[in-house]
Amino acid sequence: MKRTQVWVLSGMTVLASLSGMSQVEGQTSGSQESRAITFPDIPGYKTLICDFHQHTVFSDGDVWPTVRVWEALADGLDAISITDHLEYQPHEEDIPHPDRNRVYQIALEAATDRDLLVINGAEITRDMPPGHANAIFLPDANKLVGLDSIEVFREAKRQGAYVIWNHPHWYAQSPNGTAVLTKMHKQMLKEGLIQAIEVVNEHSYSDEALKIAIDNKLTIMGASDIHDMIEWQFNLKDGGHRPVTLVFATEKTEEALRDALQNGRTVVWFDNTLIGKKEYLVSLVQQSLFIRQTQVMESYNGKSTVVSVYIENKSDVDYILENQKDYSFYDHADIVTVKANAVTMLQVKPLKELKTFNLRFKVLNALTAPNTHPLISLNVYTTQN
Ligand SMILES: [Zn+2]
Ligand SMILES: [Zn+2]
Repeated sequence: MKRTQVWVLSGMTVLASLSGMSQVEGQTSGSQESRAITFPDIPGYKTLICDFHQHTVFSDGDVWPTVRVWEALADGLDAISITDHLEYQPHEEDIPHPDRNRVYQIALEAATDRDLLVINGAEITRDMPPGHANAIFLPDANKLVGLDSIEVFREAKRQGAYVIWNHPHWYAQSPNGTAVLTKMHKQMLKEGLIQAIEVVNEHSYSDEALKIAIDNKLTIMGASDIHDMIEWQFNLKDGGHRPVTLVFATEKTEEALRDALQNGRTVVWFDNTLIGKKEYLVSLVQQSLFIRQTQVMESYNGKSTVVSVYIENKSDVDYILENQKDYSFYDHADIVTVKANAVTMLQVKPLKELKTFNLRFKVLNALTAPNTHPLISLNVYTTQN
């Protein structure tokens, strides 16, 4: 946690004088001018922003593969995979393409000299069970065509691909909208044919999929499954964003990305909500929030014990924090929203003069398991100048 100084100037003066503080509560930084998604790194790892589930005209999508690369660059992504359906080819008459690796080659070429990893992938598209799955880090998509429902997964495994069970809760295949681990899925897990599961797909989230991920040690994933345009589908002009998987890798290479996925180092960002394992999720939230400054408020007779705490949020998430009630607040009830890429003022009532104190919050828009929200703490130092 950053140490801070006490500011004993009056409120307005202090706001004007906070060096480097470009915004205060209610204002947002310049990052909204760009649509690039921003998250801090966490100790020991780089945070790679990834979307491994996307479509083009090479299956039932509406765009050429280069458009997926341009969108990814605009969104500041670190890695993508284009995962056209192997078995569903509605544009086949207009765009015949016997080589199922061609979409990857076009995207890879478009990303030449750009800071974007393009990973070969394909979507295995079957009735439930097993449903749909993405095979990524796939050397040859052609070899997956025409195999039966289990054999296609065995071939993906033989090739060393990384397999994600897609939208297990999709109401078109699971009419009550829940993810169900069938006998076939259990057999596939036993054979090591699935490594990850989407708990988020496009505009949907599944508690049951999250539980399946936790119970079976599958990596927690989320993706856009975009078919048309990211900008329209996720309403970027009104502050929306595509769902992404944040992957915590030692470096930005395919090998490190794969190692991170295999070891379950992910957090999903979906609809202003973070979902992931506690150790990575808490680390990400803690790295997002800093106490930028503090200011002890003045009374007529000298200092009051009310302290203004300026919390900077260096991420794209508007954190919704519930006070854990060590101290109550002067300017908020027990729920505080700390806006993305901005500084939020919070006036705390320690009731006596304290050089340091802890703020403890439950992060309501973060999940480590169904209905389970992680706790974070922020150390505040009010040492007087
Ligand atoms: Zn699908
Ligand atoms: Zn899909």
